[in-house]
Amino acid sequence: MANLHVLSAYIILLYTISNHFVSAIPTKLTTPWKNTSLTSFTYKTLHPEITTKLFQDTTSIITASSDFGQLIHETPTAVFHPSTISDITHLVKSSYTASTPFKIAARGRGHSVGGQALAKDGVVVEMSSLANSGIRVSGSPDLGFYVDVGGENFWIDVLRTTMEYGLAPVSWTDYLYLTVGGTLSNAGISGQAFLHGPQISNVMDMDVITGTFILTHFKYIDTHTYVSSLLYCLGQFGIITRARIVLQKAPTRVKWVRMIYEDFVTFTNDQEHLISLNNGPDYVEGSLIMKKSPANNWRSSFFSIDDESKINLLASKHGIIYSLEVVKYYDESNIKTIDEELDNVFNGLSFESGYIFMKDVAFVDFLNRVRTEEMKLGSEGFWEINHHPWLNLFVSKSSILDFNQLVLVEIIKKESRSTGPFLVYPMNQKKWDYKMSAVIPDEDDEDIFYTVGLLHSARNVEDSKILDDQNKKILLLCDEIGIKIKQYLPQYYKTKEEWIKHFGIKWNEFEEKKAKYDPERILSPGQNIFFG
Ligand code: FAD
Repeated sequence: MANLHVLSAYIILLYTISNHFVSAIPTKLTTPWKNTSLTSFTYKTLHPEITTKLFQDTTSIITASSDFGQLIHETPTAVFHPSTISDITHLVKSSYTASTPFKIAARGRGHSVGGQALAKDGVVVEMSSLANSGIRVSGSPDLGFYVDVGGENFWIDVLRTTMEYGLAPVSWTDYLYLTVGGTLSNAGISGQAFLHGPQISNVMDMDVITGTFILTHFKYIDTHTYVSSLLYCLGQFGIITRARIVLQKAPTRVKWVRMIYEDFVTFTNDQEHLISLNNGPDYVEGSLIMKKSPANNWRSSFFSIDDESKINLLASKHGIIYSLEVVKYYDESNIKTIDEELDNVFNGLSFESGYIFMKDVAFVDFLNRVRTEEMKLGSEGFWEINHHPWLNLFVSKSSILDFNQLVLVEIIKKESRSTGPFLVYPMNQKKWDYKMSAVIPDEDDEDIFYTVGLLHSARNVEDSKILDDQNKKILLLCDEIGIKIKQYLPQYYKTKEEWIKHFGIKWNEFEEKKAKYDPERILSPGQNIFFG
């Protein structure tokens, strides 16, 4: 009886969401959810505006049940379409104050590949519903230029808006149709990271809704430690609703160059030389070219048909060759000297004679290059239907030659199971603030580490499973023979011990921050870090 009074006093609404209720017609949760599993959602209060923004229709549920990887499928109980940031605060509060809190995952674009944005039996927050929160460019003599963006915004929209002011962020991902919250939850890397650090190194402050439903403002300048730890958080401490990102004067055009190497040692030596230069390139990446992994691919069809045939012929002869990709920005101010600057940058490089290829394109077109390929593939249905069992790693400099021989040559080339692309390029360790919870190989005496992206595509579940097994085999091999790696966009850890090993000395602080900012372990369950 006493319990009943408590129930009515707190207006507890007990809902159960079961897939049995999922219908083909979009339906809002206007009727109470019944409890079928004893792990129901129990709310002390549920704001009426929240219930009307929770959806269980088939389309919403299916979309939120998987991601770009198509490897992991977890069904949420409902999908939340917030109109305002306070809607998200109300949702998190509903969970936090429930007797049995439910899991909540922010979903940017769901372009993770290992189920990181999923929430089994919980609620997925479609951040795109907030698309009107705006992108505002500002500046001050103290802070310089910056842009305030919502966590839900795509980077392409950030670029387009800032370019109207002749400004742009400095650190990017290869693909711009990813959300600000999604990439900042990881690190956000591309060929500019050697120079400017990852995207998380270029955030001045941010607003985050923590797992204790507090909208918290973290300021880079005052509390460096806080913002660093929160920036890369795999969604564990809060939902990013706004980030303030550093801007610089944008170039208008780029010289985009690719060179071919037959030998991995020469290839990596030249990469390391390039990222050490003052006034050197603005972007450095690299990739493998093999018989089954041609010079042009969905990341970029850079080469003309004739050039591609010539390069692919060389790849057939050697089995595996390497493409170094370099970009130098320019605008009206250095249009007359850019070619000379480029010559200076390339001075002393040891690429194959006759195998240097150059393009001159608009800055925005260069940054948006993957989208161009996506549009081509999308029209063939290739992009959407494919499975993407990717493996992204950071490899220590001292291990990269072993990694090349034992993984890239002995496994990737020999087994030849996918077309890739396969990326290899270096980063300067000093551009990664050690206080960040972003994890890189922790070799104190090494100023460089490599990022390796094995970006597989598979036509069906069976092929995807084979590549997923190959990824696991690579991780096991590295572990067994002591190749020093860390997973970027980690997805293969299944136990707490593995996460502790991943974070190393940063684990205790990471765990403490989880206890402080999300003690009920509500947020981003798809990362599989905190169980139960
Ligand atoms: P989601 O996949 O939706 O979410 C990722 C994680 O972040 C989840 O745990 C989610 O809960 C959490 N999250 C999402 N939004 C928020 C928020 N607002 N606040 C807090 N947590 C949030 N990565 C690179 O670094 N460099 C690249 O060059 C690169 N290229 C890519 C190219 C393609 C084609 C694809 C598919 C991915 C690429 N990625 C790259 C990986 C990409 O950065 C990550 O997968 C990123 O998480 C995807 O962003 P998303 O917006 O879809 O996030």
